[in-house]
Amino acid sequence: MSNNPFDRWQSISESDAEIVAALKEAHVPTLLASLVHLTGDVTLIRGDIRPTSDFFGDPQGGISEEDQDRVRAMALDVLRTYRDGGCPRPPTPGDHTVQEMVDFITGETLSADYVGFLISELSLRGEDPYGQPGLMELPAAARGAFKVIIIGAGMSGILAAIRLQEAGIPWQIVEKNSDVGGTWLENTYPGCRVDSPNHTYSYSFEPNDWPQHFSDQQTLLNYFRRVADTYGIREGIRFNTEVDQAVFDEASGNWRLRVKTSGGSEEILESNAVISAVGQLNRPRWPDIPGQESFQGAAFHSAQWDHDCDLTGKRVIVIGTGASAFQFVPVIAEQAADVTVFQRTPPWMSPTPEYFQEIPAGKHWLLNHVPYYAKWFRFWMFWRTAEGLLSSVTKDPSWNDQERSVSEANDELRQLLTAYMAELCADDQDLLSKAIPDYPVAGKRMLRDDGRYLQTLKRDDVHLVTDRIREITPTGVVTESGRSYEADVLIYGTGFQANRFLWPMKVKGRGGIDLQTHWDGDPRAYLGITVPGFPNLFLCYGPNTNIVVNGSIIFFSECEIRYVLGCIKLLLQEGRAALDCKEEVHEAYNRQVDAGNANMAWGAPNVSSWYKNEKGRVTQNWPFSLLEYWTRTREPDPADYRML
Ligand code: NAP
Repeated sequence: MSNNPFDRWQSISESDAEIVAALKEAHVPTLLASLVHLTGDVTLIRGDIRPTSDFFGDPQGGISEEDQDRVRAMALDVLRTYRDGGCPRPPTPGDHTVQEMVDFITGETLSADYVGFLISELSLRGEDPYGQPGLMELPAAARGAFKVIIIGAGMSGILAAIRLQEAGIPWQIVEKNSDVGGTWLENTYPGCRVDSPNHTYSYSFEPNDWPQHFSDQQTLLNYFRRVADTYGIREGIRFNTEVDQAVFDEASGNWRLRVKTSGGSEEILESNAVISAVGQLNRPRWPDIPGQESFQGAAFHSAQWDHDCDLTGKRVIVIGTGASAFQFVPVIAEQAADVTVFQRTPPWMSPTPEYFQEIPAGKHWLLNHVPYYAKWFRFWMFWRTAEGLLSSVTKDPSWNDQERSVSEANDELRQLLTAYMAELCADDQDLLSKAIPDYPVAGKRMLRDDGRYLQTLKRDDVHLVTDRIREITPTGVVTESGRSYEADVLIYGTGFQANRFLWPMKVKGRGGIDLQTHWDGDPRAYLGITVPGFPNLFLCYGPNTNIVVNGSIIFFSECEIRYVLGCIKLLLQEGRAALDCKEEVHEAYNRQVDAGNANMAWGAPNVSSWYKNEKGRVTQNWPFSLLEYWTRTREPDPADYRML
């Protein structure tokens, strides 16, 4: 076992036969990259075996079975030598070799910028990819005198606490729930699971032996609970306590937070800085449909699932076909007598055969034992599910049919995904016509699918209704065409009030200005993190930091917290109380982001989604590459801030 916390692989003691068995499960391009580490022989990836980039097709990148066997035979020799030699840490390859490895795995020629990014992100040189260099060199007393309050103990809040703790900066979390986990604690609907690959949806410093490629809600919740316990975070959390007001005091440069406990008592907490880690998808959105209150059966929102409501033998109506309904409809169809799904806009589906599959034993072994295998697998996932897809969802202004696709590559994607749905609905053309979206691929989040959603909609006891809802009655739903649908239970899969960042907290900055008034329904922040007039208030998962193609939000949070640590470092270095983002920097940045979003499939004018606010502006999404966000948030530029 390596001593470096970022090199988590275990020594190999398994027999040749056991290694052979595990290699059967190998992702061959990843294996080849690991072999370059182990042998130092870069010619292994310069030969005739080369994967091609194929986002929804063959995961082995078109490498023939015969060639895969050749690689496995070579890997056995290499791993045997490594094992018999006592498993020494392989030397780190040079930049040029890393570039070749990156190009090999992606099947493309990437810019040299990716090399620096990957050397760090994959911790190839053993460094902490999201540490803030220089912070620990500042006097411990100065660090120890700077107190931070974090709002929320979900994925970002836990991360912020871990990083502050490592930096010797006192922190406290205020959490409205009785446990950690945030969205993974609150969303308990049947079928809830992560739709970003788990090997990217995990903290860089806490890789996990995930049981599935896309694990279920309980596994995710257990992961965040375990990480919080491992780092001793729970002791610093005020559970069952909600921040209802945060006020910046200009005289002291401090924040004062009014918190309310579930028992009703109030208290004022004071800190030098506040990190909001409240998430974007936190407050359920109930639609405003006439007669909604009149329904006499059980009615609940997907994020507040009523587990006491037994659906067995019941007639159920579901409103919405977003990411949540997409996951729970196939499960409840197994219990209910009858399910009617009201669809306003159909989702695009990305074919993911392994969506519900367990990770086989051999793959676990490779991830846990072969040096660098897990890191390159993480990168391959990162490329295949996020970064590599970006060019296919970017607008080509010269492309004719902007309503249905935004570029030739986007149109190819449309054809590919349409063919996938057509095959699943070969025996149900009516369903197919309802299921194919009329907006470009990635206009909304693509939903992962192994075929079961459309199979479910084909059941005799499941009905997809595209007629708009006119009203809700005591016994069901009436559509605009006048047809009635009766139900015992009404489930709202209608999403979240994502545009109301930090709501319902009252946040007051310099001059007593209220954050919601200031935003006026159009939230913006510099890098999604800082807002002019609100010094030392740092947002995690703030405006324009969401991603549509399924990269990992944990990646963003790690970048954000590294940046926040950089801001604190700046304050301590300069001996100042607070920093305030310059208005002009914020404005110029937001102009760039708006132009970027207008250039993406989700910015297309005919797409309506929770990514846009009432004014039609995309307030949620980051329009550029993940590399770009990583680079911009490495550390703050002092010129962007006014020091107070
Ligand atoms: P959502 O994507 O916002 O979907 C809400 C659905 O309700 C949409 O189909 C919407 O239709 C429909 N709707 C809203 N008001 C309606 C009305 N008055 N009449 C009829 N239909 C109505 O919400 P969500 O499914 O909860 O997902 C939200 C986000 O959470 C996702 O995009 C994703 O980022 C995240 N999420 C992630 C996972 C995961 O990782 N596994 C799982 C669930 C959610 P329109 O599309 O026409 O507005």
